[in-house]
Parts: sequence; structure tokens; C-alpha cells
Amino acid sequence: MDIPRIFNVTESAYRIHNPFTAEKLATLGAALRLEAGARVLDLGSGSGEMLCAWARDYAIGGTGIDMSRLFSEQAKRRAEELGVADRVKFVHDDAAGYVADEKVDVAACVGATWIGGGVAGTIELLVKSLRPGRIILIGEPYWLQMPPTEDIAKGCRAGSIADFLLLPDLVASFGDLGWDVVEMVLADQDSWDRYEAAKWLTMRRWLAANGEDEFANEVRAELTSAPERYARYARSYLGWGVFALMAR
Ligand code: SAH
Repeated sequence: MDIPRIFNVTESAYRIHNPFTAEKLATLGAALRLEAGARVLDLGSGSGEMLCAWARDYAIGGTGIDMSRLFSEQAKRRAEELGVADRVKFVHDDAAGYVADEKVDVAACVGATWIGGGVAGTIELLVKSLRPGRIILIGEPYWLQMPPTEDIAKGCRAGSIADFLLLPDLVASFGDLGWDVVEMVLADQDSWDRYEAAKWLTMRRWLAANGEDEFANEVRAELTSAPERYARYARSYLGWGVFALMAR
């Protein structure tokens, strides 16, 4: 079981697989006022930076589930590197339908809400692992401005304009589902650049080392088109943020 190979190539050098910097992740952890010993569940935990950094900085413990074998291995290595391997656990698995044995203080899905079939379904899934009155974290894109055409939405890698909402509407949608938005930390253009532009050097170096690989054509096509496409579309149209929710 694994995710499509292109992500394991383009995102192999990441610690954080979304448009957040380490600083923004720390800001989010501080904003949540995490208590030492709090339990965090992270569905689609990537290379584990959120759990590992918060275990180091705020003494939380927790579990991350991710379907990428590579990212899950990187997460385990990161936990060892930060000296928190006794507190955080990473499982290589499909997180769809995953419910924790022991309920948690923070249940998160940060940039992977397809795991629950969208935001509403992911909240429904996370709540099954959540202690009453505790916090759900959802990381999700939104439109900075409405794309005037479907082509522009596709240039942002959205399936269609309808895939995302404007920020006020996304915030309102959590309320409609019965959740108070109690905190949020948003990406900005600089943190988006760290996410998108970092892929280009990773791809270029991968191509230099793997020119004969059957996958090289796909990576080459992506590297040729990605910088212009990002500069033209997503950089102006796409926002991203993590929203902390408590049940009303
Ligand atoms: N939350 C992490 C990763 C976000 S990227 C971070 O912020 O760094 C999306 C992640 O979802 C990737 O790591 C990918 O491997 C993982 N993923 C995709 N489908 C999944 C599934 N069905 N179950 C578990 N993880 C999945």
C-alpha cells in the first residue's frame, strides 16, 4: 500500500507537507495551549513534523497514521532525532475509517481531508476518537479570491471551483456543521513558496540522479510546468489554513 509515486518523489525532502513553515506549526501549537501529556491523533501525518515538534516543545504524546511508506519512515526517524520516540508513534496505514483505541485531546487531519471524503466526513471520523469538549484540527485550502474560470481553478490543482470556498464561507461552514472555530493559523505567500518552490529543486536533483528511470518523463514534465503554473495561479488564488474546532 502506498500513495502515487509522484508525491514520494516531489515531496521526499519535506518535513512539512503543506504550506506551513516550522514557525507557523509552532504558532499553531502555542495557539492551542497544549498541556503536557495531551494526546494527539494525526490522520495523514506525513513525515510527522507536527507530532514530533509538539512532543519536543509541548510534551504532548500521540499517534500519526500515513499511507506513504517513505513519509512514515521519515516520521519515525524524526521522532528519534528529536528524542521523542517514546511519546509519538507512527503507523504506515490507510487512515480512512481509523478510530483510536483511547480517545484523544486533539484529533487532526491537516491537508488530507479526502481521507474522510471531505471536510464534513473527516470531522465525523475524527470525532469518534475525540474526548468530549476537546479540539479537532482541520487543515484545508480555500480561495483567496474566486477563480473567474474553471481553467484557473484547474491551474490551482483543484478539480473545479466548487472544490473550495472563500475563507469567510469556509469558516461559516464549520459553524453550519455545529462547530465553533476557536483558533486558526493561515499560510501566506512566503510559506506557500516554501511548499511549492522546494519541490522544484527536489525534482531537479532527482532527475539528475535518476535520468534513466521510467518515471523521469513524468517528473520532467512536472518540473517544466510547475513553476509558471504556481506563479500564475495558486500563488494568487489559493489560500490554506488550519482551523481549530470545538463542538457547540
Ligand atoms: N499532515 C501532514 C501531511 C499532509 S500531505 C503534514 O502537514 O505534513 C497529505 C498526506 O496524506 C501525505 O503524507 C499522504 O501520504 C497522506 N495520505 C494520503 N492518503 C492517505 C490515506 N488514505 N490514509 C493515510 N494517509 C494518507
